[in-house]
Amino acid sequence: MKDDTTKICSYCGEKKPHYVISKDEAGVICIDCIERFHTIIHESMPFPGEQSVETPLYTPKELKAKLDEYIIGQDEVKKSLSVAVYNHYRRIEANFDPKNDIEIDKSNVLLIGPTGSGKTLMASTLAKILNLPFAIADATTLTETGYVGDDVENILLKLIQNAQYDVKKAERGIVFIDEIDKISRKSESTSITRDVSGEGVQQALLKILEGTDATVPPQGGRKHPQSNNIKINTKNILFICGGAFVGLSDIIKNRFNTNGVGFNSSLQKKESPQETLKHCNTDDLIKYGLIPELIGRLPVVSILSELSDEELKDVLLKPRNSILKQYTYLLGLEGVKLSFSKEAVDEIIKLTRAMKTGARGLRAIIEKTMLDIMFNAPEANMKSVTIGKKEIIEVSKQMVSLEENIA
Ligand code: ADP
Repeated sequence: MKDDTTKICSYCGEKKPHYVISKDEAGVICIDCIERFHTIIHESMPFPGEQSVETPLYTPKELKAKLDEYIIGQDEVKKSLSVAVYNHYRRIEANFDPKNDIEIDKSNVLLIGPTGSGKTLMASTLAKILNLPFAIADATTLTETGYVGDDVENILLKLIQNAQYDVKKAERGIVFIDEIDKISRKSESTSITRDVSGEGVQQALLKILEGTDATVPPQGGRKHPQSNNIKINTKNILFICGGAFVGLSDIIKNRFNTNGVGFNSSLQKKESPQETLKHCNTDDLIKYGLIPELIGRLPVVSILSELSDEELKDVLLKPRNSILKQYTYLLGLEGVKLSFSKEAVDEIIKLTRAMKTGARGLRAIIEKTMLDIMFNAPEANMKSVTIGKKEIIEVSKQMVSLEENIA
C-alpha cells in the first residue's frame, strides 16, 4: 500500500492511502473502497441456507441414529442434542426466508457430565456427521479482552482455520467450549467480592454466544488496528459448552432441603449425586457461579452420566471407530489377527475405573498394551496375538509406577 495521499481513488474520487491497480499506475483504489468492495462481495455470497447440499439436514431421528454409531449410552443427551441441532439449522433457513417474519432464537447447548463421559465426542461427532467446521476451546485459557491470555475471539480463529479460511462456512460451524464450569465466579453475590476474571470471561463469551460481528486477528493473539482482522458473524454458529460441574449436586440437594421438600426424606434419598443432577435448574447454575445472562444463552441443558462397566466395554468394542477396531485393522495390515480374552477386557475395565477419567482411560491402557506388539509386528512374522489378563495386569503395574513417579 502507498501511504502518499496525492493520488485520487478511481472509485470514490478521494485522496487517501491507496493501492495501485493498473499497470500504468493511473488507476488506484483507496483502502476504504477495498473495505466497501469486500463487504459487497461478502454479502452477495450465497446464504448458508442455500448451501444445504454440503451439509445434509438430517431429521432428529436420523441424527440420533448416526450418533449411536459412534457414542455409547447417553441416550437422552443424544436425543436432546439431535433436536437442538436440527432446530438450529432449521432456524438458519427460516430466518433467511423473506416470507417468514418470526425470528427463531438460537439454542446453544450446555452439557454437564463427568470427565470422559463423551461431551467433547458428542460435539465433534455432530460436526463430522454434518460436515461442518469444528473447533474446541478450553474456557480456562481464556481471558477477557485486555488481560494476558487468549482473547475469546481466538476461539473463532480456530474455527476459521478449520474451515480453511472460508469465513462463510465457519459462520455456521460448531464450537465446543470445554471446562465452562471452571470460569464460574467464586461468589454468587455480584457485590465487592466478585471474581472479576471468571465473570469477565463469561461476559466476553456471552457476546459471541448471542451473536455478534466479531473481528479476529488472522494470526491469533491480540487484535492489531493495522492488521487485516477477519470479520465473522457468530449468529449462526452453534456453541456447545461442557463441564463436569463438581459440587453442583450438593447445591441442588441444599435447594430441596431449604425449600422444605426434604431431599433426604423422599424417594430421592437413594439418588446418587449423578442422578441428582437431573433436577438441575437455572438457580442452581447461578449458585454454582454462572452469570444468569450466560445461562440464558444456553437454553438446552443436558446431563451425561458416568459410563457403567457394560458401557465402558461397549466403548472398547462397538463404536464404528472404536480403539480396538482401529488396532485390529492396523495389525490386520501386517497379517496379524488381534484378540482380547474376556478376562483381559474385564481387567481393562477395572483399571479404567481406578483411573477415574471415564472412557478416556481406555485409550491410555490399550495404547500402552499395544506398544510393544505394534513395535515388533512388522518383523515378527506372527499370525495372531491374544491379549490376556496377565498382559493387562503388567500394564497396570507400569501405569501405577508411572503415577507414583509423577506424584
Ligand atoms: P469429556 O469431554 O466428557 O471429558 P471425551 O468426549 O473427551 O470426554 O471422551 C474421551 C474419549 O473417551 C473419547 O475420545 C472416546 O474415545 C471415549 N468416550 C467417552 N465417552 C464415550 C461414549 N459415550 N461413547 C464412546 N466413546 C466414548
